[in-house]
Amino acid sequence: MTKRGEEIQRQVLAVLRQSSTPLSAYDLLDHLWDSHPKIAAPTVYRALAALTGRGSIHRLESLNAYMACQCGSHPHDSILSICGDCGSVGEQVSPDVLEILSGLAQASGFTPDRHVIEVHGVCGICTGGAGAA
Ligand SMILES: [Zn+2]
Ligand SMILES: [Zn+2]
Repeated sequence: MTKRGEEIQRQVLAVLRQSSTPLSAYDLLDHLWDSHPKIAAPTVYRALAALTGRGSIHRLESLNAYMACQCGSHPHDSILSICGDCGSVGEQVSPDVLEILSGLAQASGFTPDRHVIEVHGVCGICTGGAGAA
């Protein structure tokens, strides 16, 4: 990997960590233009692919956006809960749930490779359950 590639990855990760909501590749491109005026979309996509592969960030398939991993490294795919009100995303790891899903798929001869589980709803802060007056 090139030095510049590493630098872009670091910045993409930093921007995603600072953001309270997932960002699309073009949102990220917008952020990076400040420090890299000549950066092009393929460079950002390469950085996103590398970071996703390492588990530093997760791709939200239903939103076509990316978020920084909230729980550090984990051997299993995580379950992402997406708030429709504020756009925040929570991350939970539950190997049991993944095992059940894999079992269901395997029962019909399917070989699971990875899981994408996204739950849409309203977060605790938006429902007034936490932090609301
Ligand atoms: Zn994670
Ligand atoms: Zn919310």
